[in-house]
Amino acid sequence: MSLPVGRIEIDEAPARRCSRCGAAVEETRHTRTDYVVGYYLLHTGPIAEATVRRGDDEAPTSYLRLLDVVEVVSCPRCFGEPEVQRSWAAFGGAAGGF
Ligand SMILES: [Zn+2]
Repeated sequence: MSLPVGRIEIDEAPARRCSRCGAAVEETRHTRTDYVVGYYLLHTGPIAEATVRRGDDEAPTSYLRLLDVVEVVSCPRCFGEPEVQRSWAAFGGAAGGF
């Protein structure tokens, strides 16, 4: 008796690379009880203040608009660097939220 052979699926997605050291990073892998963080991704970009006015009798509301989306990838090794922690905090990222 032999076990059925499973199909091997190859992930064709292009590999992400760490923005700091250029190391290829892997997707976060989940196991039943734990997970392994492959990389940290910061979704950011240049912002500009914009105003929106809903009605003639309403005061314009200003908000921050994301002009361009920039993805900053950090491998777990670089993410532990104080320098990286500082820059993520400066972006208003969730550096302390993990
Ligand atoms: Zn790195």
